[in-house]
Amino acid sequence: MRHLYDVIIIGGGPVGLYTAKKLAQKGFKICVIERKTRVGEGVLCTGLISKEGFERFSLPVESILTQIKSFAFNSPKGQRLEYSYSAPFAFVVNREIFDYKLFESAIKDGVEYKLGVMVRSIDKDGRFYAIYGNDRKWWARSVVIATGNNYRLQKNLGLGKPPGFLYGLQVELPVNVDETNIEIYLGKDYAPGSFAWVVPVNHRGARIGTILNDADSEYLKRFIKEKFDSVDMELERNRINSKPIAYGPIKKSVQDRIIVVGEAAGQVKTTTGGGIFTGLLCADIAINYLEQALKKNRPLDGYEVEWRSALSGEFEVGKKIRRIASSINDRTLEHLFSFVKHNRFWVDLLIPKINFDYHSDFLLYCLKSFIPLLKIS
Ligand SMILES: Cc1cc2nc3c(=O)[nH]c(=O)nc-3n(C[C@H](O)[C@H](O)[C@H](O)COP(=O)(O)OP(=O)(O)OC[C@H]3O[C@@H](n4cnc5c(N)ncnc54)[C@H](O)[C@@H]3O)c2cc1C
Repeated sequence: MRHLYDVIIIGGGPVGLYTAKKLAQKGFKICVIERKTRVGEGVLCTGLISKEGFERFSLPVESILTQIKSFAFNSPKGQRLEYSYSAPFAFVVNREIFDYKLFESAIKDGVEYKLGVMVRSIDKDGRFYAIYGNDRKWWARSVVIATGNNYRLQKNLGLGKPPGFLYGLQVELPVNVDETNIEIYLGKDYAPGSFAWVVPVNHRGARIGTILNDADSEYLKRFIKEKFDSVDMELERNRINSKPIAYGPIKKSVQDRIIVVGEAAGQVKTTTGGGIFTGLLCADIAINYLEQALKKNRPLDGYEVEWRSALSGEFEVGKKIRRIASSINDRTLEHLFSFVKHNRFWVDLLIPKINFDYHSDFLLYCLKSFIPLLKIS
């Protein structure tokens, strides 16, 4: 049969490309189908990835713009809690280069690709799946849906979409910043129940954004105006982009020989909206089950169990913290900041609990420690 692949991967984002490359390395015949004509084009992302993630998944170092060694939390009235490490703990990448390098390296490992093809449907055709797009048809023994926040294919299959969404808003501006430091801002004027960020791309530019319950750009405009008064807002206001971010996992991510992975499956941190590490973590699990399915005809259901047990605690704690954060007012935040500032030992106690990719331990510890100050139960 012409155009028969072991696995067709729909979606050439980081999770789809990584899955493709790893499966090709195991000797399978793989094809990635991507709707864009150039991989990585026009992606909205802050591009912050942990050093651990970079090493664990052998990510493309050519895409690194800057290395992060310190971070600071800022209260609504300007109290600042900072912490720095002796070595970088995260990198900021250029997503266009990041995705493209993953693509190039997948091709080197034998992955075939179709660019500029929007997959419209997936049908079971005897023992195989028929994938339809741009008036053409391809066949596969297994299918990976890695379509990010386009949920149409999985909805048509009855696999559903994430239970909720947050909205990431961001603009890249030419501002002077410390290229090794991230600033996080809290408070109802900039990001009610959430946070705003300034993440450097170099010492003369930063990605400035917020993650909110809706795509209202007024908060981000106000934030930029107050923090960077030299920026010409008239020029910049149209450059704020926004995108929905999955908030919670889909109900079912496996159907027969079809797997959903990455943001499409809601494999995104419910705290920050970051999805590259979590998506790649789940891709590794998917790759393992796909290999067993293709070689030994084993079912794929274990994928569902394994990735949920790896991440469900993180999802739940993230949601709990967001619920609590939305009930804390700015006065309480100020109170909390001054308490920690005047009892600096808290910082030394808390910092070792921070893990860039797993937030639940740190957050639960903070919650337990500060409940009396937050006046919540
Ligand atoms: C403002 C903002 C900031 C962010 N910052 C970070 C960050 O700092 N760190 C982090 O880890 N994450 C961040 N994220 C989230 C991160 O961008 C996503 O989690 C990540 O891109 C998900 O990867 P993916 O491969 O699952 O999906 P995507 O990157 O969305 O890739 C999906 C691909 O599928 C293609 N596609 C969709 N439908 C079809 C179809 N029917 N046929 C063919 N192709 C199709 C799309 O064109 C796309 O290329 C941020 C998100 C936002 C909005």
